[in-house]
Amino acid sequence: MNIAVIGVGYVGLVTGAVFADLGNMVICVDSHEDRIEKLRKLEMPFYEPGLEEMVTRNVEAKRLAFSTDTDTAVRRSEIVFIAVGTPAQEDGGTDLSQVEASAAAIGRAVNDYKIVVNKSTVPVGTGDLVKNIIERFKPKDVEVEVVSNPEFLAEGTAISDALSPDRIVIGAPSKRVAMKLIELYSALEKPMVVTSVRSAEMIKYASNAFLATKISFINSVANLCEKTGADIEEVTRGVGLDERIGSRFLRAGIGYGGSCFPKDTESLLYVSRKFGEEMTLVSEAIRINKQQPYRLIEKAEKALGGLKGKTIGALGLSFKPGTDDLRDSSALAIVARLIELGARVQAYDPMAMEKCKPLHPEINYCDDAYAAAAGADALMTLTEWNHFKQLSFPRLKEVMKSAFIFDGRNIYNPDTVRAAGFKYYGIGRESEG
Ligand code: NAD
Repeated sequence: MNIAVIGVGYVGLVTGAVFADLGNMVICVDSHEDRIEKLRKLEMPFYEPGLEEMVTRNVEAKRLAFSTDTDTAVRRSEIVFIAVGTPAQEDGGTDLSQVEASAAAIGRAVNDYKIVVNKSTVPVGTGDLVKNIIERFKPKDVEVEVVSNPEFLAEGTAISDALSPDRIVIGAPSKRVAMKLIELYSALEKPMVVTSVRSAEMIKYASNAFLATKISFINSVANLCEKTGADIEEVTRGVGLDERIGSRFLRAGIGYGGSCFPKDTESLLYVSRKFGEEMTLVSEAIRINKQQPYRLIEKAEKALGGLKGKTIGALGLSFKPGTDDLRDSSALAIVARLIELGARVQAYDPMAMEKCKPLHPEINYCDDAYAAAAGADALMTLTEWNHFKQLSFPRLKEVMKSAFIFDGRNIYNPDTVRAAGFKYYGIGRESEG
């Protein structure tokens, strides 16, 4: 099939590359000229495992191309995906300006029947908005159908998630269009859920809000564990093995972040209030999450007798391992707060430092974890990159000024760390008095 994808961010680029890899002819369009220029030279705009290889393979096979010309891309395609950003507004609502601009551009470009598929995460009812905007601009005698096909991929595992999703949700306004989308996705051989457009839009928010609530739930259990002497790692193992609950998204830590959970929970809450059906459970999940990063700082303040003038080694900046994305990163929130409190931060992240430099030029960026620990009063693990789990404690102790570890991701065994002569503070487990 001929496909256009509007928006070459994490979702659009991965979607375009995967559809091309499945044998379709794909043009990815972005208004960001520099991004398109770089992609034409096979330079990726962000780090995502396996993406560069897949993009290169499909560009070389001439199944994947990049352009800033929405008109041409739309005209030559049967299916047009919208995968632009939907950031949060100040009031928690969703800024739909990129979606609206895409819809207007599609409306101006269409010349014959098109299926427009919205992959961006958008509040329930946005399908109708997109349809209305396209109707306003398109020729009267041309039919356009608007589908909601929310994306569930996660950064860091985006390619494998897109190739092997748990389910594909198709919110279709007609049987004809549902069949076309089923045909497109059939190569993946995964379960497909066909719904109304509005249900599909809601499925995305309900899924993300549920996962975010699960994280906040276990974080509040962790906080109680600290007061009661229980250990959250033992508790989550015991709880998560219950198949009704499951162990995924049940890790205590410094709270969820990233470009989706924070904004999507706020957006769902905003919509629920708008419809007079406030989701207080989501509101509480958000509240817990906002406090969670600062609990680690409070532990450090107490243990070190204040943070002013202290040097803190920060391991990790991205919101999770496997990505260089810093959007709403809890790790970054902690680093920013440490700086506010007068600490000097020396940080190491294997992927996110280049993106962080313009945001926080005051951080001392280091070449590796040991350099971040050198001369530090304390070390904080903020993103659970795999190789942080294998650091040598004797070597860390040798280079650090004082032997304190604040493990924001519970990646270490407290006994091992203590046996190496450190004072250890984790989340939801026994800390030094
Ligand atoms: P992003 O910000 O990384 O990328 C959006 C891209 O759209 C940018 O490159 C921007 O230049 C481009 N763009 C904006 N307006 C445009 C226009 N009018 N014409 C052409 N290009 C335009 O966003 P993202 O992280 O890929 O997210 C896209 C959507 O998918 C959001 O709604 C997000 O909530 C959702 N989503 C994201 C993820 C994720 O992990 N990032 C996962 C699932 C769903």
